[in-house]
Amino acid sequence: MSVLVAHELYRFYHIGDDETAALRGVSLHLSAGEFVALTGPSGSGKSTLLACITGLDEPDGGRVEVGGLRLSRRSEAVRARLRAANFGILLQSGNLFAHLTVEENIRTQMLLARKPDATRLHQLVEIVGLSRRAHAFPTELSGGETARAGLAVALAADPPILVADEPTAEVDRDTEARLIDHFQARRRTGLTTLLATHSKALAQQADRIVRLLDGRIVDA
Ligand code: ADP
Repeated sequence: MSVLVAHELYRFYHIGDDETAALRGVSLHLSAGEFVALTGPSGSGKSTLLACITGLDEPDGGRVEVGGLRLSRRSEAVRARLRAANFGILLQSGNLFAHLTVEENIRTQMLLARKPDATRLHQLVEIVGLSRRAHAFPTELSGGETARAGLAVALAADPPILVADEPTAEVDRDTEARLIDHFQARRRTGLTTLLATHSKALAQQADRIVRLLDGRIVDA
């Protein structure tokens, strides 16, 4: 059964008289335990698709369902509830509270999800390669470290569906290998992972690669 269904999604942006069709009829089904890589050049619509399927943005056309429930065209309160129950989300920015350290950010996410787990917290910090930066504040992190701290936050509550935009930007090989191991472990326990990535190493490990070009899926 599909845990996530995106059917014929359209999303248009308008700036003055200019219209950008960021998504032009994108359909995507994800099954439990599937690990899918979303690829495509910059501007092809990856971030827009991730925002629409997690209910952070509303598609202009089409439908999104998560766990058999409609997510699109719902009130923000309903979308927030469905999002919290189903997704761990890493966006390109804005994933961390600036006044909390890496460790505090992860712990806060665990507390919000009512899943505090000190052992898991330390494992996550290690998996994302931030053991020595656990007490750093977001302003003290590099771009890649910030993305990996955000990934640890997204993974904090062991979400049924992880949706991550470029989780391995600027990452060294060892850390990338550890992250790949973790994504494969998620697959084995029936958890779903969708990653927008430019990393060939990461995409090669996926069950399926979905490629976007100009707002359309070109091969799936
Ligand atoms: P990707 O993640 O693959 O780089 P995006 O989803 O960010 O692609 O962007 C898809 C298209 O939509 C691009 O042409 C981009 O310039 C445009 N776009 C994205 N967000 C906005 C926005 N908020 N306002 C106007 N245009 C946007």
